[in-house]
Amino acid sequence: MFETVIGLEVHVQLNTKTKLFCSCPTSFAEHQNSNTCPTCLALPGALPVVNKEAAIKAMRLGYAINANVVHSSNFDRKSYFYPDSPSAYQITQLSNAIVQKGEVFIDLKDGTQKRIGMTQAHLEADAGKNIHEGDYSKVDLNRAGTPLLEIVSDPDMRNAYEAVAYLKKLHSTVRYLNISDANMQEGSFRCDVNVSIRPKGQEEFGTRVEIKNINSFKFVEAAIAYEVQRQIEAYEDDIYDEEVFQETRLWNVDEGVTKSMRGKEEAADYRYFPDPDLRPLIVTQEMIDEALEMPELPDAKVKRYTEELKIKKYDALVLCAEKELAYFFEEMLETGASAKNSVNWLTTELLGRLKKTEFDIVNSPVTASKLGELVSKIDDGTISGKGAKEILDVLMEKDEDIDGLIDSMGLAQVSDDGAILEIIDAILEANPEKVEQFKGGKEKLFGFFVGQTMKASKGSANPQKVNELLKERLSK
Ligand code: ADP
Ligand code: MG
Ligand code: ZN
Repeated sequence: MFETVIGLEVHVQLNTKTKLFCSCPTSFAEHQNSNTCPTCLALPGALPVVNKEAAIKAMRLGYAINANVVHSSNFDRKSYFYPDSPSAYQITQLSNAIVQKGEVFIDLKDGTQKRIGMTQAHLEADAGKNIHEGDYSKVDLNRAGTPLLEIVSDPDMRNAYEAVAYLKKLHSTVRYLNISDANMQEGSFRCDVNVSIRPKGQEEFGTRVEIKNINSFKFVEAAIAYEVQRQIEAYEDDIYDEEVFQETRLWNVDEGVTKSMRGKEEAADYRYFPDPDLRPLIVTQEMIDEALEMPELPDAKVKRYTEELKIKKYDALVLCAEKELAYFFEEMLETGASAKNSVNWLTTELLGRLKKTEFDIVNSPVTASKLGELVSKIDDGTISGKGAKEILDVLMEKDEDIDGLIDSMGLAQVSDDGAILEIIDAILEANPEKVEQFKGGKEKLFGFFVGQTMKASKGSANPQKVNELLKERLSK
């Protein structure tokens, strides 16, 4: 029996206005190499200056995951040659990073949480892009110098489920903090997966393999499953030492396998040394105050939803995983809608309908306050759930006044005691033997009376009211 060990390195592209060491914009540029200057082109004599906004955003993540935010951190040069890096080194933070020793809690299937240690999160500059066209290649340095936060986990995960749960939690957290778009497809949230196996009971770690740049949660899961299987087979075939060694592999989406890309460089290969152009990054009180301005985070939100709003844990986890969903829900509550009905109408009815369209929660044709208004009408018995579904179908197509729709579609429930009692009395009068039988103990007949009343009202009577009033009449 084997145990899997996983550690993750996540590169988050920070959504700062300008690059990490110069004032070039990070926004999209129509032309290649237009968002560049002597610093990010690495022209001789140009000096880097650290971007304060990037430092504050790194610090904010640090505070959010209960890490040490280091008040004097350092930058190092990592040497390597590649055409997309004109300086032939990357500025990064090797041993004295701005954020150190944090923790992320993941939710397991059994309802408990597991702590995953975070080794460090360091600031570094992204490279440019090589574009290969036919017989030649071009270099675009618009992205060169964009700030990245590399978040390195401890090797604390024991299976693919935990690895994906960790990634999702981190993804959700950086989006709540608004420090990154964290768009996996566009590469602003990329992850490298380190995987090893060891026989159960062995304390020493096995040899780790690094799988680079996997751009979806689904692929992370698949790549881990494949790699674990490959390593176990090598172990069982007695060729572990030949087959499993420190290397970088790539996930091949088409074939569903990992493939060797290159032998893993040792730290010494990179000739790390302190960057002489950059002084220590000193954190000021003003930066701390700004970094500490943060919204309610997912764990606190789930706790509040379950304890104060009495929402089921599972539903709370679904709602809080995405800030857009949580904020939509909270806006619904502001209209006075009940939490219980809002959860259902948001997660089942609205999300179910959105899935069939090109819209999502961010640009939903039905706004949060509109859906809240609709739910309030169910809460107070004005309309039935069935009627509300018909109205929601209309609202998906066109924004209309809810009261107007209730009128024009004839969906108002009769909740007025007098009107319902009139129907009930007529039903009871027409069925004297059944009333006798009920009073004699045949309680099943209650359903019959409810059915007859609803039928006589053509479905417009509020069923809850019918139940209440029938009970009252029949107990006399
Ligand atoms: P490097 O700097 O060479 O990338 P690190 O020591 O920074 O190496 O580790 C990188 C990642 O690999 C970390 O996330 C760490 O948790 C993980 N890791 C280290 N050892 C193992 C192992 N034996 N199995 C799985 N993951 C590991
Ligand atoms: Mg590393
Ligand atoms: Zn620049």
